[in-house]
Amino acid sequence: MSRLSLAWALPLVSFALAMAMAVVFLVVSLVAVEIRSFSDSEREAERLASVVARDMHEGYLASVSDIVSAYAPAEVTVLTANNARAASSTGLITQPVVHTVPIMFEGEQIGRVETSRLVTSGLSIPGWGILLLVVTAGGLAAISGHFFAARVVRSVQQISTVADALRSGDAKAEDLTMDADFTELREMYVSMRRAVGSVRREADELRAEAFTNPISGLPNFSAFMRKLSGRLEQADFDRPAALFCLDLDHFDRACESFGSAVGDVLLLKAISRIQSELDALKVEDVVDTRDYILAQPWSDSLYLIIPNIGGRAQASETARRLRSAFVPHVEACGYEIQLGLSGGIVMIPEDGQATNDLVRRGETALRNVRKDAKKGFRFYAPRMDRIAKGRAQLEADIREAIETGEFHPHFQPKLDLRTGRIKGCEALARWKRPDGRFVAPSAFISVAEETGLIDDIGQIIMREACEAAVGWLKEGHAMSVAVNVSPVQMRNPGFRDLVLDALATSGLPPRFLELEITESLAIEDPQAFKDAVDPLRAMGVRLALDDFGTGHSNLAILSRLNFDVFKIDRQFIQNLERDDSARPIIEMILAMAESLGLETVAEGVETAAHARFLRLRGCTYGQGYLYSPALPSDKFLSYVQDWEARRRQSLVAKAG
Ligand code: C2E
Ligand code: CA
Ligand code: CA
Repeated sequence: MSRLSLAWALPLVSFALAMAMAVVFLVVSLVAVEIRSFSDSEREAERLASVVARDMHEGYLASVSDIVSAYAPAEVTVLTANNARAASSTGLITQPVVHTVPIMFEGEQIGRVETSRLVTSGLSIPGWGILLLVVTAGGLAAISGHFFAARVVRSVQQISTVADALRSGDAKAEDLTMDADFTELREMYVSMRRAVGSVRREADELRAEAFTNPISGLPNFSAFMRKLSGRLEQADFDRPAALFCLDLDHFDRACESFGSAVGDVLLLKAISRIQSELDALKVEDVVDTRDYILAQPWSDSLYLIIPNIGGRAQASETARRLRSAFVPHVEACGYEIQLGLSGGIVMIPEDGQATNDLVRRGETALRNVRKDAKKGFRFYAPRMDRIAKGRAQLEADIREAIETGEFHPHFQPKLDLRTGRIKGCEALARWKRPDGRFVAPSAFISVAEETGLIDDIGQIIMREACEAAVGWLKEGHAMSVAVNVSPVQMRNPGFRDLVLDALATSGLPPRFLELEITESLAIEDPQAFKDAVDPLRAMGVRLALDDFGTGHSNLAILSRLNFDVFKIDRQFIQNLERDDSARPIIEMILAMAESLGLETVAEGVETAAHARFLRLRGCTYGQGYLYSPALPSDKFLSYVQDWEARRRQSLVAKAG
């Protein structure tokens, strides 16, 4: 029922009740008439008269008034000479009297019984009066009920208006008052306001907590996204806005070295430097940084939106000034800490308008900074998105290819440069697509490393390489197989078990397995490296330092790490003819290996001249296209068999 119809329902109900009362009254009167009309026969009147006379005779009825109260008015009107007039005037129903029978007692008439045929055709005047009274009272009740109900409805409406306003947080709710004077409703209203007030206070506190970073008090991610959408409406190509996705350089390193408490202080200092620099830019009238919002979406990343920045030039200048605010260092808890600021910049609306896209693009630009230059600022460019999309697609493809078994090792032979015998090979991952094309390792290894998928690929290569080597052993060719291990794999605690499992499953004696490791991991964390490889080395697994000479080799550390082999990177071999510095580097590596008692493998041997040079300088093995590219396991075996056959023939020929 709607509120308005309530105002009518109440009076309608009371009016209906009054009408019902009037009808009942009328019906009762008619029933009385009916009852009285039962005595509508002379015989009945006579019977009653004789019953009255008998009762009086037997002493039951002492006087006429007893007679009247004993019989009247249900069945009969018993009238004495004295009260006849009075009796006829009180009834609702009158005349005509049909029969009159005297009541005789001991020969004397003491009264009479009158019967009347009285089916009423209307009410007597008092009857009408009462009916009118009832109807009027009903009408009055209905009218006053209407006004009463209207007041109730108005009060309830007021309460619900105030409740709506309070619920929706409308500030005007505080000014809305009750003017109805029902005490109960008033009390209800007051307690409702009190309850809503306290709930709202709690909600405000919760919201403040939920939308700000507890340490810095800056808006968090969700608060920033809400504010961002509010600030973007005015941005257009004439008055662009800029979003900066900022990240502190070396922050993690500082937290590791000085502890997270110092990290918190450092972060606050960094935030206040950014804020002061933004204020300075405005005061110096260099960039309009008015109404900027700085937010802390998570840990050490910060988002900054400057609504009226003006253009790219101003955004660049802002980035330059923000970076310079961190030079030379930031002081926290008595430490002088090197910190820096890097970021991705998104111009609005040029680079997009939807808040989610903008933040994602800013993050993409920041990731680009981290990936290439490591620090600094970079504007977002659509090309970055395409690259990111391409990487995401490549990741999905790699995942699927692992499932469908598209990764297998190919094997490239390593030759003993003095004897010309094939001493072993290097297992190189090959990804063969269903259409028969091969994908180069340079195209997928880095993505596989970033996504951790290198663990799965590495496991496949390790298993199949060990199995292949066992197969060759069975054919009478004792050759070692070298497997490349990425630093990502090496850091995985399960790596050692993976190697042990591959050896155990295949049955390959550990001395036929060699692990090729780049120097980065060995030098960055020598202890982790030793922990991972020492148990394997103890079993007889050999260790090769891959790409030697390309990194910032720390010779002191490298000499302590017990490598068995140094692999000279192919760039040095290929530069032999072109670059004068290649020759001394190779000679130095060979000399160093010799002094440490290690074997050496030269990669990328493409010409006989390369081979001769290396052999004369004492390099142990050569690997390269001069001999063979990497081959599938079965082709590799036939290659080895052919090679050995030709070598024997040439030895026989030489001897002959
Ligand atoms: P790498 O370990 O330095 O492998 C040697 C690379 O040199 C191989 O490239 C090989 O095909 C190529 N190569 C061999 N002989 C010659 C030559 O005479 N001339 C020239 N120009 N190149 C030659 P590939 O197979 O493209 O592999 C590239 C890199 O991918 C490898 O460099 C290695 O770092 C990585 N990689 C390959 N397979 C795996 C693997 O199973 N696991 C891991 N973690 N990395 C792998
Ligand atoms: Ca290698
Ligand atoms: Ca290499």
